[in-house]
Amino acid sequence: MLTGLQVAVLGGDARQLEIIRKLTELDAKVYLVGFDQLEQSFAGAVKEKLEELPFHELDALILPVAGLQPTGEIETVFSSAHPQLTKTMLSKTPDHCLLFTGISPPVLTKLAEQAGRTLIRLFDRDDVAIYNSIPTAEGAVMMAIQHTDFTIHGSSVAVLGMGRVGMSVARTFANLGANVKLGARKSEHLARAIEMGLTPFSIDQLPQQAESLDLIINTIPSLVITSQAIAKMKPHVFIIDLASKPGGTDFQFAKKRGIKAILALGLPGIVAPKTAGQILAGVITDLMKDAAITKGE
Ligand code: NAP
Repeated sequence: MLTGLQVAVLGGDARQLEIIRKLTELDAKVYLVGFDQLEQSFAGAVKEKLEELPFHELDALILPVAGLQPTGEIETVFSSAHPQLTKTMLSKTPDHCLLFTGISPPVLTKLAEQAGRTLIRLFDRDDVAIYNSIPTAEGAVMMAIQHTDFTIHGSSVAVLGMGRVGMSVARTFANLGANVKLGARKSEHLARAIEMGLTPFSIDQLPQQAESLDLIINTIPSLVITSQAIAKMKPHVFIIDLASKPGGTDFQFAKKRGIKAILALGLPGIVAPKTAGQILAGVITDLMKDAAITKGE
């Protein structure tokens, strides 16, 4: 239980609702900032203006998964207001107060550093990344279905990258009956591909593989789908680039060659906001339980 802990949830999207639900279920006192247009109510949660929060009593602040806007504003889909988090506000919180975010843009990193508060980047965590790879893989399936006129079953699919997302995506497409080739640079990743029943290839051999492919799903946050590879692709190929901005595809060249390529970001929040919220809620509340134990010592 989180009885006695006080948490402020600052803006965000539908994922935050699962976090609020879990926090209130566990008996934390929750303040909601940027939720004035939210009709749903949660027992144990009160709507509050940012500047009226009891900062000196807060044990945690939960920011949107994207952190803060470059201007320091808190983005929220449940309000038309744009509250601004400042160093002065953060400095009022107790030393033990935790700051949760998905990723940390420079403005947030700097703010946390200046205020001397611990910033927890949830998307850096292996457990969150692996859980999130499940809705990401399902999102990739959704995109493949929406944007092609052939079945995944029997098609030739290249998955690039054997990290947390690449592994889940490759397994999901293989389970749907695709012939999955896995492009990576490390020998252990190629070995894992063989163990999974996939066909491995060295990522620098993508131009040689390109002609045989129907669908390419990239998870490598570096330019790997080059103009040389795109030049060899068949016209019906569809590229789903999942890697963080700017992706790993030469999009300009793909457009020039008439190859459909989409940078598909934030799929967990799009295809499964409830699950994506539950993933974050589980990790946040576990970390807060640990913090509660430390606080009680
Ligand atoms: P990860 O576990 O770090 O995997 C990334 C993979 O890329 C690793 O296997 C790494 O291999 C490989 N890699 C990196 N640079 C490379 C290069 N220059 N050449 C060849 N391979 C390279 O990351 P992840 O959790 O799978 O996430 C992958 C990407 O997807 C990230 O950009 C993440 O932000 C994004 N993502 C997107 C969504 C979405 O909805 N679109 C959802 C979740 C994550 P090495 O070990 O050889 O470096």
